[in-house]
Amino acid sequence: MIIDDQYYNIIIIGTGAGGGTLVHKLAPTGKKILVLERGNFLPPENKNLSDTEIFKRERYHAPEQWYDNAGEPFHPQTNYSVGGNTKIYSGALLRMRERDFEEVKHQEGISREWPLKYQDFEPYYTEAEKLYRVHGKQGDDPTEPYRSEDYPHPPVSHESQILSICDRISKQGLHPAHLPLGLQEKEVKTDAEVKGIVPALSYPNVTLKTDAKAVCLHTNPSGVEVKAVQVEIDGQSHLFFADIFVVACGAIKSAALLLRSANGSHPKGIGNSSDQVGRNFMKQQMTAVVQLTPTANSGLFQRTLYINDFYWGYGDYPYPMGHIQNSGGLFQDVIFAESPPILSILAKLLPGFGLRQLATRSIGWWLQTEDLPTPNNRVRAVGSKLYLDYTPNNAEAHDRLVYRWQDVLKAVDSNTSGTVFSRNIHPRGEVPIQVVAHQCGTCLFGSDPATSVLDLNCRTHDVDNLYVVDGSFFPSSSAVSPALTIMANALRVGEHLIERLG
Ligand SMILES: Cc1cc2nc3c(=O)[nH]c(=O)nc-3n(C[C@H](O)[C@H](O)[C@H](O)COP(=O)(O)OP(=O)(O)OC[C@H]3O[C@@H](n4cnc5c(N)ncnc54)[C@H](O)[C@@H]3O)c2cc1C
Repeated sequence: MIIDDQYYNIIIIGTGAGGGTLVHKLAPTGKKILVLERGNFLPPENKNLSDTEIFKRERYHAPEQWYDNAGEPFHPQTNYSVGGNTKIYSGALLRMRERDFEEVKHQEGISREWPLKYQDFEPYYTEAEKLYRVHGKQGDDPTEPYRSEDYPHPPVSHESQILSICDRISKQGLHPAHLPLGLQEKEVKTDAEVKGIVPALSYPNVTLKTDAKAVCLHTNPSGVEVKAVQVEIDGQSHLFFADIFVVACGAIKSAALLLRSANGSHPKGIGNSSDQVGRNFMKQQMTAVVQLTPTANSGLFQRTLYINDFYWGYGDYPYPMGHIQNSGGLFQDVIFAESPPILSILAKLLPGFGLRQLATRSIGWWLQTEDLPTPNNRVRAVGSKLYLDYTPNNAEAHDRLVYRWQDVLKAVDSNTSGTVFSRNIHPRGEVPIQVVAHQCGTCLFGSDPATSVLDLNCRTHDVDNLYVVDGSFFPSSSAVSPALTIMANALRVGEHLIERLG
């Protein structure tokens, strides 16, 4: 074991939406900060943009195996690099709605109340939107929450075909809205590497170690504080010491790290006296719908549109159904993939079309529905194996959203009826468990140490100098994409840490 001779004020493990944003917030304090990241810098290339590369060819997916509750191995869709999953995300940066912070009744159960409310997060949403350069427009979506300031940048214009679909959707009484996007320039997303880690590294007090995988935390003999983190670098074990430790490895890997750090004082894992670490794992239900259109589009445009008209229910269905956004042009699938997943299925259904023609005659839509927290959906670490026990729930709400959206699209193009095709990413009874893009909820925050892992500052109830700052703290997932809430929370916790570090 190599003992590092430095002593840090704070060690942050992980550089994604949570960790990368927190490092940015703390860098100007002058405190001695060590950042540990198991991946390295990704080369900047267009392929970061392709859904096909991400979902089919698994270009950026970690070469490791996890296990489902039947013990079947699978390859998770997750990314280890500086910036974490924000390096491959789509940059849709939405706020949760005010009601998402309250207890909400769904058809299959309860979406948990958050211990802090929208107004507690609002200033940090505003700060996160500035940091990540969110482009958006307020006023179109009736579910939109209150904002203290307008978006920092104007919205990206819709591609002409999307604009025309917007008009026709509006005529159905719906409220299409500009999707808030974190953008550096027109086509380039902002992420936790570019907006978080890189600027933080200009401060001499911040050190980043890449290819440095944290394997466990060590406490003092009484277990009241973490003394060191054990890290694998180049096949060697190293120990790094600090006053404060922040775990920000993503909801699944943060829970695994706490569980794998079990010792005599913490026999069930560090921070796990409540037996809640790893439980209440959520990832939202997702479906991709492809719409064939009578006229062609460029196939290379941004995703710019979302629809929340069914977010809280529709007609006589009084339960939340979810969120819809367009996927962006599909032509990049043809450029980058040998076998584009959505388009190749379409090609079989419509053999008269070539792939290029299909790509420019199609519009993709992503539909996502909240899944509900339950203790048996959980991360377990057994020896070196990682298990993800997950049984999807809230399926009818999601199915209703899919069918309702197909009806909307059919009415948009009545002359193309029968050409709307739905590919369920998450069909009932057949769980593609490897899709963990929106993972959250494995270390709930709350005020009761018996039922939550973290306190309201995201510090573990059990260990005074240990924090978890990523998607783990979510008590419920909502149906909007999670990254902006993770970033905003990192800024909020950062403020607390600045005060604590003095
Ligand atoms: C394809 C895709 C598209 C997405 N699109 C959107 C979107 O448009 N909008 C949105 O809001 N969300 C989107 N998401 C989700 C979003 O990327 C995540 O919610 C967010 O990145 C999670 O932040 P995090 O800090 O919890 O974890 P991550 O961003 O996953 O960061 C965790 C970090 O910890 C590192 N790490 C893990 N284990 C260790 C270890 N043992 N030692 C050291 N380092 C470690 C990882 O390498 C990584 O850098 C998308 C995700 C994917 C995969």
